[in-house]
Amino acid sequence: MLSDPIAALATPPGRSALAVVRVSGLGAFAVVARVVEGFRTDRPRVATLAAFHHDGEPIDRGLYTVFPGPHSYTGEDMVELSCHGGQLAPARLLAALHAAGARHASPGEFTRRAVLNGKLDLVQAEAVGELIDAVAPAQARAALRRLDGGLSQRIAELRESLVELQALLSYEIDFPGEDDGPVPPDRIAAAVETSRARIGRLLATAPSADRLRQGALLVLAGRPNAGKSSLFNALLGSDRALVTEIPGTTRDAIEAHTDFLGWPVRLVDTAGLADAEDRLERMGIEVSHRYLSAADLVLLCVESGRGLDGSEAALAGARASLVVRTKRDLANGAAEGLTVSSVTGEGIDELRRAVAERMFGDRIALGDLEPTLGSERHRTALTRAAAALEDATEHLVPGGEAVLVSHHVREATLALDELVGVVDVEEVLGKVFAGFCVGK
Ligand code: GDP
Repeated sequence: MLSDPIAALATPPGRSALAVVRVSGLGAFAVVARVVEGFRTDRPRVATLAAFHHDGEPIDRGLYTVFPGPHSYTGEDMVELSCHGGQLAPARLLAALHAAGARHASPGEFTRRAVLNGKLDLVQAEAVGELIDAVAPAQARAALRRLDGGLSQRIAELRESLVELQALLSYEIDFPGEDDGPVPPDRIAAAVETSRARIGRLLATAPSADRLRQGALLVLAGRPNAGKSSLFNALLGSDRALVTEIPGTTRDAIEAHTDFLGWPVRLVDTAGLADAEDRLERMGIEVSHRYLSAADLVLLCVESGRGLDGSEAALAGARASLVVRTKRDLANGAAEGLTVSSVTGEGIDELRRAVAERMFGDRIALGDLEPTLGSERHRTALTRAAAALEDATEHLVPGGEAVLVSHHVREATLALDELVGVVDVEEVLGKVFAGFCVGK
């Protein structure tokens, strides 16, 4: 049964001032009425103080708020109960609700119901999860924007234009003998191209979307003693890595999550790049090379006042990298380029800014206003839609088959449908008959 009453703790278990328990589904009010004294449903969305009990035994006093469907998160009748936190009160309240007829909700079941009841689409449902999991402010902003429907809206518009296109094509297929003549092929070609370009623009946001989701992988590299570990700590603002004067002491890679100006970064300190005799150190260097190939950006640390040697120049040339001059406080003469001192903190903020610009420049430029892709699922679906439109284009030639163009456009539409979680086959037919005077 999809709408049976479910209950679950909405806040983390453990010691806390308050805990929130949610109940949703057909019959949710009847369930709650067995637990909450004087329960009433005639004051929706207003918190009411009441005693909670289980078989006549008091559990707690707390607030309950009634959200009659469809005006609730799930679209069903819902109640939120807040009781005292800790080990016992929430557990007893849940036990009472279970005894009163609610089943324990499975993970994500409230949001799943919200999707099934059309309160959220799949993209928004994912955004709920992303907002909860966000660790950097920029991640939270992007999730919130998707939750507000930014991306969904963009996809809905795209889908709308594809459905219109299909309507044009259906006209071409089904009524080739109409007096009006066929739809000009140019018009169809232009419509396909416009949609393809729009999908392309969304897909172009995928790389920085990945960096935003996982954190940009920023790898510190350079010769032993170049000041990598010190810079790692300075960038993190805490002493997480071992800093030492013996060359090559950072044996392995150390990874830490942080954010630069709100943008998520995974910072990795690697072993020195120099060839090492020591086996342990060699292992560390292998790890560094693995990190280097995966890096979104390599921060090549070179002491101020020293030129780049061959292997450093080669690395800077081969990968997306920023050369950072370290130990600025020891250098005499004017600083050039990105110059930092981990001892005095000079240049550290500028470096953070430069990295954020390099990694998330497109998003910074857009001011987070443009919707961007979220998960891998979004990219896969849009890539499928783009490929289908590409296939459609192949049939947009003199003597080409409108039915095949239509088939591919339909594929593209289905990919978008899957993306947002709506599949409505009747809609195209509706468009056809609304847009064309077939009854004349
Ligand atoms: P790594 O081998 O590249 O990780 O280099 P470390 O961070 O361990 O630094 C090597 C040596 O340089 C240590 O003695 C550090 O104290 C020193 N050092 C690192 N950064 C600075 C800096 O900005 N200023 C000064 N004066 N010394 C630094």
